[in-house]
Amino acid sequence: MLKADFVVVGLGAMGSAALYHLARLGADVVGIEQFRMGHGLGSSHGHSRAFRNFYGDALYVEMAEAALPLWQELEARSGERLLTLTGLLQFAGPGNPVLTQKVGVMEALGRPHEMLSAAEVAARFPTLRLPEESVACLTPLGGFLDAGRCVLAHLRLARAMGAAVHEEVRVDGVELGGGFPVVETSAGRYECGRLIITPGPWAPEVLEALALPLEVTRQQKFYFRPREREGYGPGELPVYGDMETQFYGFPDYGPGLKVADDGLGEATSADGVDRTLDGEKREALGRWLAGIMPGAGFSYVSGATCMYTMTPDRDFLIGPHPENGNVLVAAGFSGHGFKFSALVGKILAELAVEDRTEQPIERFRLDRFAAAEM
Ligand SMILES: Cc1cc2nc3c(=O)[nH]c(=O)nc-3n(C[C@H](O)[C@H](O)[C@H](O)COP(=O)(O)OP(=O)(O)OC[C@H]3O[C@@H](n4cnc5c(N)ncnc54)[C@H](O)[C@@H]3O)c2cc1C
Repeated sequence: MLKADFVVVGLGAMGSAALYHLARLGADVVGIEQFRMGHGLGSSHGHSRAFRNFYGDALYVEMAEAALPLWQELEARSGERLLTLTGLLQFAGPGNPVLTQKVGVMEALGRPHEMLSAAEVAARFPTLRLPEESVACLTPLGGFLDAGRCVLAHLRLARAMGAAVHEEVRVDGVELGGGFPVVETSAGRYECGRLIITPGPWAPEVLEALALPLEVTRQQKFYFRPREREGYGPGELPVYGDMETQFYGFPDYGPGLKVADDGLGEATSADGVDRTLDGEKREALGRWLAGIMPGAGFSYVSGATCMYTMTPDRDFLIGPHPENGNVLVAAGFSGHGFKFSALVGKILAELAVEDRTEQPIERFRLDRFAAAEM
């Protein structure tokens, strides 16, 4: 039986950040991952995830702002460019309730934001042509994280500080017991002082006994390249999102301009997900992109499948396992978790080592759905 003070199961965005912050606190920590580090089969691969503090909920505004210095620290320590702040532009038809709600929160909290008409957007970003009647809000604290690089930077620095990574080891079961949890894996049993479980879309299987009301959905993202690349890069375009269609996109970065639909795809499971790219979705997103950047002459480059792990209330699950306080869980990131992952890793490490965190995580309790049913 292998023994470690701290074991992290699942090394995607959350687990890699937890491993890093545990190593920073001087913990003896082992990370277990069923695939290779930086694989493309979960929820954290690829070139970009939006970073924003533009939320209709003060908790997430403040969490994004708390995550920002952690990303900047990771950039400084890794020597890599991870976060590109381009600004975030969200737009909709007049009176859109979601946009109105978010703008209201920015106003109430006194956060910088600018309301722009379609003509003002075109003057600011000449390649971007929103529908004439659009209302847009530009927030400066927006941009994107290079997702794949962030995960690998956390893992590389964690290992440099002494963390062990056991790749291609699959966790098949967790024995909670009353005290030290034991993890059953394809490489034998691990006894853990404290266990941190960050399984992403595999949460329904890894945390089966908790019967959490999670839904895993199939999501797709597609890259398009403009005929001329000038005018579409970071600095020339913000990250942009259409609150009417729920389509959103990024400047030209990596293989091209990435676009995706934030609306939920069909329900699936992490091992059973259909990774065939959906031609209709690709065409709908391509049409939308060409509509707001009419002069680009886009050609399709590539696409990929990813998964959301949704909770019924879209709030995350972060905290102790209801049956054993030596087990901590972070899951259910509901399609918007990446930007917070550096902070979630820090929270998990603090809870594991110090039994406390200054971050307000009460809303993320694992037992909140059980409590609601009583
Ligand atoms: C298309 C798409 C676009 C998104 N856009 C954004 C965005 O713009 N901004 C944003 O903030 N968020 C975004 N998100 C959400 C964000 O990417 C996720 O919330 C986040 O990446 C989830 O990270 P995770 O660590 O929970 O899951 P994962 O990255 O999937 O990590 C879980 C890991 O656990 C491992 N694992 C699971 N089970 C086992 C087991 N039994 N044994 C060993 N290892 C195991 C898996 O192999 C995996 O590596 C997007 C998600 C998708 C799919």
